[in-house]
Order: sequence, then structure tokens, then C-alpha cells
Amino acid sequence: MKKLTKFPYSHVLVLGLAKSGTAAAKLLIQNDIHVRVNDMKTEETDDIVKELTTMGAEVVVGSHPLSVLEHIELIVKNPGIPYENPVLEEAAKRGIPIITEIELAGNLVENSIIGITGSNGKTTTTMLTTEMLNKSEQPARMAGNIGTVATEVAQTLGSDEKMVLELSSFQLMGIQSFKPKIAVLLNVFEAHLDYHKTFANYKEAKCNIFKNQTSEDYLVYNAEEPTVVEAVTDAKATIVPFSVKRPLENGVWVDEESIYFKDEKIMDKKDIVLVGEHNLENILASIGAAKLSGATNEGIYQVLTTFSGVRHRLQFVEKMNNRVFYNDSKATNILATQKALRSFKQPTIWLAGGLDRGNGFDDLLPYLEHVKAVVLFGQTKEKLKKLAEMAGIKTIEMVEDVEKAVTKAYQLSKPDDVILLSPACASWDQYRTFEERGDMFIQTVHTLV
Ligand code: ADP
Repeated sequence: MKKLTKFPYSHVLVLGLAKSGTAAAKLLIQNDIHVRVNDMKTEETDDIVKELTTMGAEVVVGSHPLSVLEHIELIVKNPGIPYENPVLEEAAKRGIPIITEIELAGNLVENSIIGITGSNGKTTTTMLTTEMLNKSEQPARMAGNIGTVATEVAQTLGSDEKMVLELSSFQLMGIQSFKPKIAVLLNVFEAHLDYHKTFANYKEAKCNIFKNQTSEDYLVYNAEEPTVVEAVTDAKATIVPFSVKRPLENGVWVDEESIYFKDEKIMDKKDIVLVGEHNLENILASIGAAKLSGATNEGIYQVLTTFSGVRHRLQFVEKMNNRVFYNDSKATNILATQKALRSFKQPTIWLAGGLDRGNGFDDLLPYLEHVKAVVLFGQTKEKLKKLAEMAGIKTIEMVEDVEKAVTKAYQLSKPDDVILLSPACASWDQYRTFEERGDMFIQTVHTLV
């Protein structure tokens, strides 16, 4: 078992007992540190509470009394808990440092981490980078925001293995000395302002990914995102920019035909399966991180000629009788659907609709030129019908749900058409989650003959 090093704390409070809190508590106990855990909920944590108590932790559940701070020198907080929590406010007053679980993972395997952050594209880039390394016989495992707890992966990470860590702003906000060997900063858009309060705070959290890096580390970033470019002027790491627009002698770039890493051609652009300009950014970022970690061009080629997208994110589903089906159920807002529509030039049958949040859809108008038909469902179908009429789309169909939309779209289609589910709305009027909606789409596509 790996041991924490340079860890000068003997009494630690773990706040929040989700997966990451439980893993952090266990790791700390195994390192002979006195651990107190505090969680608001009781029932959900029953088994964990029993296990941790047996291991020697002190457990306080059901409320957040300030007494949990007694003797505490450090807090490991769940990324979801806001800093307005009274225990955290009091801790800040007392000068008790507050970190998240990734700090502990970084302590265990500092030089093996590739950290990936950004407002959008994290999961895609994390998956691509991991695959590129594995296909190059450079073993790598994913962790972090993507669902696997970082400290758990860190504890069993082989000495030749890399950990590709998807990092949210919530995780990055509370870092002290955490630093990835390779950091990737994709973009910084307005997001999560309910938690971070201001855009400046949010940006600062994202930029923490390179705060502790030195010239021996690398920072891969989007050279076409003004906010990112401005932020990285402070970086001490060796910078590796990427651009979808122009050649970069020290970075990753693309022209009409090919993708390059510095002056080396990696592969032909036409062989890439993943669609969408935003995904091209994610691809360049992944190539940067993977090449810096020893990936081969063959490994990268293998991934990019087969990887068809993360499930529900502009995911290639099937080519059937020369119609191509894409599932972008994750597109629950207009911005995401703009990106999806922009990704195709072929005649497109667009499936959309869902929960009505009271917004209009006019901002989609400039993206509908190649849309030959729309099939609408859900609460917003009337609003989207008006949009389609405004765009001069001749074929407008209203149906009950996604399943019927798929059948209808197929009836309307001709060879070489794209059939795209990109709802521009949340799913909750008809489906429990966007995943369930996307799964219905995929299942129905597979029933067509
Ligand atoms: P995240 O993990 O950051 O949420 P994903 O890879 O899951 O990102 O992609 C989620 C959605 O974000 C995609 O469906 C797409 O609409 C959008 N997106 C992905 N990559 C980018 C990018 N590089 N720039 C802008 N938007 C993107």
C-alpha cells in the first residue's frame, strides 16, 4: 500500500461521505491519522459509518455541529459541499486548510498524473487521452470526476502507469500543492456561478490546475480561447498550446488535410471518426497530453479511427442504409445543440424537444440551413415548430416521444442524410435523465431494419 508523504497532519476531518469522502477517510486511517467524519445524511451512509467506525474513525452524522472542528488541523471536503457550510466558514476563520480528495491522490502519485479540466470537453478528452496511451502500450487509467475515485486508483497505480484525471472546478478549488505532470486546460466559459459566485472565482479554480506546476511539467491549452490564453501567461510550466485555426511550432495543430504535433505529422484529418469542431479541439488536446506521455502515432491513429464519441455526446450510433444516426441527448441547452448542428453539412433530419424552461429558441436559427426536416416531441414542440417555420423548413412533424421520432425520421430520410437527436432541452418532461432519453434513441435505431 502506498503511504502519504510530507503529510504533517495528525487530526483530519472528512466532510461529506460520498464515494470520495469514504475513500479519503480509509486512506487517512491506513496512514495512522486520526479521522473524524461528518455527514448530514444518516440512512444512506449507514453501512459506511459502521465500516469506518470499525476501522477507527470517529463518526458524526445528521448535522454539522461546530464541535466537529475540535483538534482538527485539516479538512478534506466533498467537492459538492459549498464553502458557505457553517463548519467550513468557521474553519476558514480559524485558518484550518480545506482540501478535496484529489490532493491526497496527488500526494500518492504526483508524477503520474495527467489532469484535464475545462468547462466543456473534459470527459471526451479524458477518454481519448487514456485510450491513446493504452493503444500505445503506455498503461493509463481514468479517474476523478468521471466516476472513479482518484485516491482508489492512485493506491493501486503501477509505477509505469499514468492516471488520467478528469477535474472539475469544485475539485480544483481546494488544492494546496496538487500538481499534475501534464495539465490540460480546454476552455473556461461561464458556468457553476451558483457555487463559485463570480466568473473570476470560477476561472481561478480552473487555473489552479497549473498553479503548482514547474518548468518540468507541461500545460496543454487552447490557444484560441482568449480567457485561457490570458490566464496561462502566469504559468510556470512548459506550455504546449493547441489550435484548430493555425500552425503552432510548439504545439498541436491542424490544417485542411492533417494533424500535427509540432513539426511532425500525426495523421490525416479525413480518417477521424469523431465529428464536430469542438471535438477537434478535444482531439488536439488529447494528442498533446498523450504525445507528451509517450503515445505513438499508431496508437493515436487506432483510437481516432474508431472512437465514435462518449455516449450521448454527439455519439455516432449507426450507419443504416446509408443514413447516419447521431445521439446527442446530452445537449440539454441551445449552446450544445448549436455545436451539434454546426458539425454537419449534409442534409439533416433534426430530432428535438423536451422540458420547457420558458426560453425561446431563436438563437438556433442561423444553424438550420442544412436541416431538411424536423421531428419534434415534448413540451417545447410548439415553440420549436415556430422556429422551424421561421427557418423555412418544409417538413415539420410533431410526435409523442423520441421512439416515435426515430421511426418518423427514418421514414422521411433519404440515403446520405444525417439523423440527429440533439434536443436543446432537458429530458425531465418525459424521461428521467438525458441518458434514458439517449438510450431510447439508440434502442429504437437498432430496431429499424
Ligand atoms: P464535460 O465532461 O466537460 O461535461 P463532455 O466531453 O462530456 O464534457 O462534453 C459535453 C458537451 O460539451 C458536448 O456534448 C458538447 O456539446 C460540449 N463540448 C465538448 N467539448 C467541447 C469543447 N472543446 N468546446 C466547447 N464545447 C464542448
